Amino acid sequence: MRYNAFQILKQGLAGNRGWRPAWRKPDPKPEYDVLIIGGGGHGLATAYYLAAEHGLRNVAVLEKGYLGSGNVGRNTTIVRANYGLPGNSQFYSHSLRLWEGLEQELNYNVMHSQRGIINLFHSDGQRDAAARRGNAMLNQGDDAILLDRAECRAMLPYLDHDQTRFPIYGGLYHPRGGTARHDAVAWGYARGADRQGVDLIETCEVTGIDIAGGKVTGVQTTRGAIRARKVAIVVAGRSSQVAAMAGLRLPIESHVLQAFVTEGLKPVIDHVVTYGMGHFYISQSDKGGLVFGGDLDFYPSYAARGNLPMAEHVMEAGMTLMPMLGRARVLRSWGGIMDMSPDGSPIIDHAPVDGLFVNCGWCYGGFKAVPGSGHCFAHLIATGQPHPAAARYRLDRFETGRGLMDEEGTGAQHNLH
Ligand SMILES: Cc1cc2nc3c(=O)[nH]c(=O)nc-3n(C[C@H](O)[C@H](O)[C@H](O)COP(=O)(O)OP(=O)(O)OC[C@H]3O[C@@H](n4cnc5c(N)ncnc54)[C@H](O)[C@@H]3O)c2cc1C
Repeated sequence: MRYNAFQILKQGLAGNRGWRPAWRKPDPKPEYDVLIIGGGGHGLATAYYLAAEHGLRNVAVLEKGYLGSGNVGRNTTIVRANYGLPGNSQFYSHSLRLWEGLEQELNYNVMHSQRGIINLFHSDGQRDAAARRGNAMLNQGDDAILLDRAECRAMLPYLDHDQTRFPIYGGLYHPRGGTARHDAVAWGYARGADRQGVDLIETCEVTGIDIAGGKVTGVQTTRGAIRARKVAIVVAGRSSQVAAMAGLRLPIESHVLQAFVTEGLKPVIDHVVTYGMGHFYISQSDKGGLVFGGDLDFYPSYAARGNLPMAEHVMEAGMTLMPMLGRARVLRSWGGIMDMSPDGSPIIDHAPVDGLFVNCGWCYGGFKAVPGSGHCFAHLIATGQPHPAAARYRLDRFETGRGLMDEEGTGAQHNLH
């Protein structure tokens, strides 16, 4: 069923009884060409592009919970292409271009809103760094505008521009950045993959990876054994645990990141705004809630909930930048498990086992990466060659030290990224 205005009218007149489920609920078959472990944004996008671009339809996505129950439905929904380093810069640019055609491609409203992102800076040194990053973005073919104090004040009148410690000097404005409705991205890719014949198998946890003679032969799951020639691990915060089933030790630490949402308010924040002197970023959802987040909880954990000191820290940063925030009531907070790589950049590569592939290490940046990651990972799985946009996301860079992409400039320490 195609979604369009006529369909809404038709179904509305018929009492909305004619809508069909967006995807099937098949039982697993004994064998597939490709098995994708993980039904998050990256796994679903990979399945979609395998079918849509490479004609591989004997594919299944195995998800231990329900589709979209992981980080893809827990993030603060920010989509941008403002990375500075070669490798990351072209990848996120590629991903943003895919975002821009995604709703037409999937025939699904993912509520992609290019409302613009403003990264604030608060010193001359930060202004230099912002100018350098902006120039890298322009060189990559993306958009960037350096705002001065007066322009920031005019665009963001609700901020405390004159705070004593960290007055706002200006901002790096990325007009094509913005947000998207996170669940809808998972649902859109799921529907798209299902329509191409991909089996999406929920409540199916992978418990083992079968290897014979150095080659992957399939997986063990809570719904039985399934054979496959190719197996792709795309499980975000669970990457180390699932890779360990194949005897691999990944350079990944799992950390909790929290997010918060307030009660619904009238429109007040037009853009996504990030604070340059505290780890704090905020936007307003279409329902009116102020959605904001901060830093990691600073200890590795598989608990998808956060601790109170970090909640306090985020609120403090928010109140410093935007004192009016104190009048809003926080409705909910939640946490997700982040797969942090040592250089803050991801991995899309073959594993050192024939037929096994890994996609992980997305740190804070994996939601905006969903289309690009799925597209590039599908290319790698189907052709055996890395996609040019993801050519630097090699696993062995952590072994050899060559090609590290330390985007945050914080060195090889996961919890500083
Ligand atoms: C609070 C928070 C805010 C964030 N904000 C942003 C943001 O604003 N912008 C941005 O770009 N990124 C953001 N991120 C990061 C982004 O959400 C993640 O990097 C990205 O969603 C991870 O990829 P995924 O969607 O495939 O992961 P997930 O949705 O976590 O998918 C992995 C799936 O694998 C499944 N799985 C795990 N183990 C198994 C197994 N053994 N068998 C079968 N299935 C298994 C899990 O159940 C899960 O559904 C944020 C993350 C968090 C937590």
